[in-house]
Amino acid sequence: MSVKPVVVLVGRPNVGKSTLFNRLTRSRSALVADFSGLTRDRHYGEGRVGQTPFIVVDTGGFEPVAKSGILHQMARQTKQAIAEADVVIFMVDARAGLNAHDHDISRLLRKLGQRVILCVNKAEGMPHGSAVAEFHELGLGLPVAISAAHGDGIADLIELALQGLGEPEPEAPEFDADDAEPTDATLKLEADAVEPELKHRIKLAIVGRPNVGKSTLINTLLGEERVIAFDMPGTTRDAIEIEFDRGGKQYTLIDTAGLRKRGKVFEAIEKFSVIKTLQAIEASNVVLLMIDAQQEVSEQDAHIAGFILETGRALVVAINKWDGLDEDQREKIQREFDRKLRFLSFARVHTISALRGQGINTVLRSVNAAHAAAFAKLSTPRLTRELQAAVEQQPPPRKGIFRPKMRYAHQGGQNPPLIIVHGNALDAIPDSYRRYLENRFRDAFELAGTPLRIEFKSSY
Ligand code: GDP
Ligand code: GDP
Repeated sequence: MSVKPVVVLVGRPNVGKSTLFNRLTRSRSALVADFSGLTRDRHYGEGRVGQTPFIVVDTGGFEPVAKSGILHQMARQTKQAIAEADVVIFMVDARAGLNAHDHDISRLLRKLGQRVILCVNKAEGMPHGSAVAEFHELGLGLPVAISAAHGDGIADLIELALQGLGEPEPEAPEFDADDAEPTDATLKLEADAVEPELKHRIKLAIVGRPNVGKSTLINTLLGEERVIAFDMPGTTRDAIEIEFDRGGKQYTLIDTAGLRKRGKVFEAIEKFSVIKTLQAIEASNVVLLMIDAQQEVSEQDAHIAGFILETGRALVVAINKWDGLDEDQREKIQREFDRKLRFLSFARVHTISALRGQGINTVLRSVNAAHAAAFAKLSTPRLTRELQAAVEQQPPPRKGIFRPKMRYAHQGGQNPPLIIVHGNALDAIPDSYRRYLENRFRDAFELAGTPLRIEFKSSY
């Protein structure tokens, strides 16, 4: 089980935190850029530099605009993020020089006792020695010079930060990897039947904001006995995975509460932790997102949903506490859900009562279906036939003198399924056409419950 290490960026305003954040998370954010309704206000993302994936948190996004000292500006969320970090990257500004606020922040970091890497940003065009010289006096070890804007020094910074943390990603499995265009003969020969690969247990993360009913649902799922074991000190309390079987299927529950830090002096401030939620999502195949029917759909719901989308995990939504609502209230929450979380339209949505145990089997059936869809094997001939039918019905728009030509498609990955479309002049395919293809593939292969990604590869 890999829980991704958490890298937290801190520093006073304007040192370049969000520039670095965007650079670290860029490849992922591009994938979700075209979902309307998705919150733009990103503070959490999956970083990918080198082989080890990690979660990156930009605490700059939490800072309220306040006139008092920098430490007052540091919201509780910032302190909690620091407390839960595996490593903190403390950014300072080579051009502005050492600042009283930098001293304040470094004192706080020392007090919290986290591992800190001092990072001197905006160092492009400066001799290394002079860029970092004055920052030695912060007493946080050797400063690392970078330029977030130009991308200099970032790979080294991340390598240093992640030393001893996390595991490199396993090699992605190969899917019809040969890029050679299939001949008519291979198109006919390859088996059409698509058996989903369901050999492994379903790794399920149950997430949602505080009091939405996660513990209640987990207790209902696990039954009394398991809950007692769960509460015994020294046994499963620190476990982050809980196994259970139901309806002949095997599940591994990724428990967010269990993701608490081992042996940290600094206790988490809040009961609820966004970072633990993100780690649980990252460690899962399927996410069950719980929404509280008796509350408004909140920013926090949207943030969690946005991150699920970004990671590409399969998703089922459960609107909980459906009991005891009258018809008006039910309509209201449905409307709100459709308005604020419409970018989750690929997921199945169920109304449940965790307390009364209502709707839970239906939710689990959708979890199974979403898992099967996420790991579906999509054969090259069928993908190619579907592509050709889609293009015939609606060809991609011409860009200038170029007419994009789509030749064939093959699968490039699972969870989420990645479909690679090969052809010529595909660079200018608009998002609307990408969505059209996505819907065609989704319908043809019955891929409900998982996001789907399409990549275009042009020969010229
Ligand atoms: P934050 O407030 O810490 O998130 O800082 P931002 O990322 O918003 O950056 C503040 C300003 O510094 C922006 O104008 C950036 O373009 C600029 N900046 C960020 N990184 C660099 C860098 O490496 N070199 C230079 N010269 N400017 C940078
Ligand atoms: P968590 O913080 O997400 O783990 O939420 P809990 O499971 O602790 O539930 C918070 C509160 O909501 C508790 O008082 C539960 O009894 C209540 N609750 C949970 N599920 C339901 C439900 O389906 N219906 C109603 N009416 N209350 C519920």
